[in-house]
Amino acid sequence: MRFLTVAALRGLDARVVLTPACRTRDDIAVITFSLQSGSNGNSIYVEAEGVRLLFDAGISGRQAQQRMARHGRDIRQVDALIISHDHEDHIRAAGVFQRKFKLPIYMTRKTHEAIPRDLGRLSDVRYFRSGEALRFDGVCVHTIPTPHDAADGVAFVIECGGRRLGIFTDLGHCFPGLWALLASVNAAYLETNYDPDMLQSGPYPEHLKRRITGPGGHLSNDEAAELLSQCGRSLPEWVAVAHLSEENNLPELALEAQHRAVGRMYPVHHASRHDVSQMWEW
Ligand SMILES: [Zn+2]
Ligand SMILES: [Zn+2]
Repeated sequence: MRFLTVAALRGLDARVVLTPACRTRDDIAVITFSLQSGSNGNSIYVEAEGVRLLFDAGISGRQAQQRMARHGRDIRQVDALIISHDHEDHIRAAGVFQRKFKLPIYMTRKTHEAIPRDLGRLSDVRYFRSGEALRFDGVCVHTIPTPHDAADGVAFVIECGGRRLGIFTDLGHCFPGLWALLASVNAAYLETNYDPDMLQSGPYPEHLKRRITGPGGHLSNDEAAELLSQCGRSLPEWVAVAHLSEENNLPELALEAQHRAVGRMYPVHHASRHDVSQMWEW
């Protein structure tokens, strides 16, 4: 397994190091917030042990900068921009983020090759292979291949000091092992893209409805709820419903489906498709 030092990612030292496992410490806090989550653009910030990571670049540079500042963070201090897949709502501003904020970009070679040329040249791209883990000092980023209909999509588990945060969106369908992955994390962004009734009665053409509900599409509110209920006693401490569709879902419906599955007392948050979320620290 290949890991990269934080020195390497900051361009100070290009060494690639081999490290067997992440350290475990109890006094480390993981901080995260979503800058925006939905089919109109995605970007999620995660910070732990002084390492600052941004996942996906689907909103404008200006929005990203302003929304990070709302939680007292400077986007120019981000150590790495890590891209999940080549769909526009995740990579739209990758070139801008790199040129304006000088962020090194991590993605798979296939994702890079699938990105439209009109995004501009990406000059500082570091490849990982789908399924590999990246290491940034004490933080491990596990990449998990998904059956989503992208060139080479991945979901993420960010691990630090024994705490594990999942970024589980654009999943395709409930692939084998997904519920166990969800049960393995302490907290997660969890895709609840659509309400099945809204989608079926909504304005989308049939081929698009088939794509969304098909094996390479997105998870519905009910599918996410089913996954949560499968976790049993290994439920994450909280989840944030994420990647909601504008036309085919409502935050209330996504939240209600999860609460029906795991009870009203269970903490279900919402990663908005219009604004920065609250900051979670635990
Ligand atoms: Zn997406
Ligand atoms: Zn996608």
